[in-house]
Amino acid sequence: MNLDFDREHIWHPYTSMLDPLPVYPVKSASEVYIELEDGKRLIDGMSSWWAAIHGYNHPVLNSAVTRQLEKMSHVMFGGFTHEPAIELAERLVQMTPDALQKVFFSDSGSVSVEVAIKMALQYHQAAGTPEKHRFLTLRSGYHGDTFAAMSVCDPVTGMHSLFSRVLPEQLFAEAPGCGFHEPCSDDCIEDFRMKLENHHHEVAAVILEPIVQGTGGMRFYSPGHLRKVRELCDCYSVLLIFDEIATGFGRTGRMFALEHAGVVPDILCLGKALTGGYMTLAATLTTGKVASVISGADPGVFMHGPTFMANPLACSVAMASIDLLSGMAWEEKVGDIERKLAAGLQPCCGLEGVADVRVLGAIGVVELERPVDMPRIQRLFVERGVWVRPFGKLVYLMPPYIIPEQELDILTDAVCEAAGTVL
Ligand SMILES: *Cc1c(COP(=O)(O)O)cnc(C)c1O
Repeated sequence: MNLDFDREHIWHPYTSMLDPLPVYPVKSASEVYIELEDGKRLIDGMSSWWAAIHGYNHPVLNSAVTRQLEKMSHVMFGGFTHEPAIELAERLVQMTPDALQKVFFSDSGSVSVEVAIKMALQYHQAAGTPEKHRFLTLRSGYHGDTFAAMSVCDPVTGMHSLFSRVLPEQLFAEAPGCGFHEPCSDDCIEDFRMKLENHHHEVAAVILEPIVQGTGGMRFYSPGHLRKVRELCDCYSVLLIFDEIATGFGRTGRMFALEHAGVVPDILCLGKALTGGYMTLAATLTTGKVASVISGADPGVFMHGPTFMANPLACSVAMASIDLLSGMAWEEKVGDIERKLAAGLQPCCGLEGVADVRVLGAIGVVELERPVDMPRIQRLFVERGVWVRPFGKLVYLMPPYIIPEQELDILTDAVCEAAGTVL
């Protein structure tokens, strides 16, 4: 593999072209193992960013792609429809809350957030409240890298200052201070309540990641917070958008994180694990009401339509991934991972330099007091035969659900070792 060419010519996520961090050449991946070019095998602790819930090279998912490939890899979705899209949409409508009835397919998580934001804006235009055009969200959030999505990411970690001339200015409430197992006090929702009270006349929607704030800080918060948010949104005729791109499909111990709170949003974004990490695909679901208000006013259509909308290969493998998930005792499996992560990361708790250790579902987080030295810690993990990729002060695990117990032990041991040596 020509790694010099890679260094010279290819951008990787969030990297410099002058001083790129080392990248490891991957030859293949299978089950929970990623094999490097030199033959070294790494146990995957990242599920390729929340996506590969069934691991890699799964025979059932492989066959879903190849069977569809023999029929067609893609046709335009304007004027055409097909079985993979219909079956997948049917399944998504059935497995999400009853109110969510209309499905819009797009290519990536960020685009599904753009679509959600456009839906909220078009809804208020059509409803005769066009002054409602801004978005209220929580600090420490992450919703993607495109412009509208970026505008609702945490302003500090999202580097809003770089793009301030073009980014729409949104409203930010304090991130919830209540832990997952705690009630949400009136104090805890106060900043959010005040922002909504002062700005509701110009707010189209609230957008947030329910229960788990992912890339913006790996924070878990109380289901009670979501219930209070829903009440306030209803009170001020503000739509509620849940971004479950990271949390969807079992990661938090429920199929969708919203189930912890029993709260139903007006718009729901799905992505990442939707295809079991095989292909890029996302979906934005909304209610019959939002869809009919949008469609009932000028221009009478929803203004979005990507070239690769509802790609049949992606829809087929998504369907197969959801079938696999439903067919396995995933709640038990994620519960086992939760217990193993909690026990395995427990030794980190007492370490100097460790600020917090927290676990929810198949997500284990060790928060340090200072940012890690990335190249050094990455090398240490690879030497230990694991793939863990920290960011900032956060070293975290979110393994594929199929991970064998002894491999999970190796992952948590490696994280504890790293946490003990970062100082
Ligand atoms: C990853 C992520 C996105 C963006 O998805 P992409 O597929 O990377 O565009 C949006 N929201 C959340 C919560 C995410 O975790």
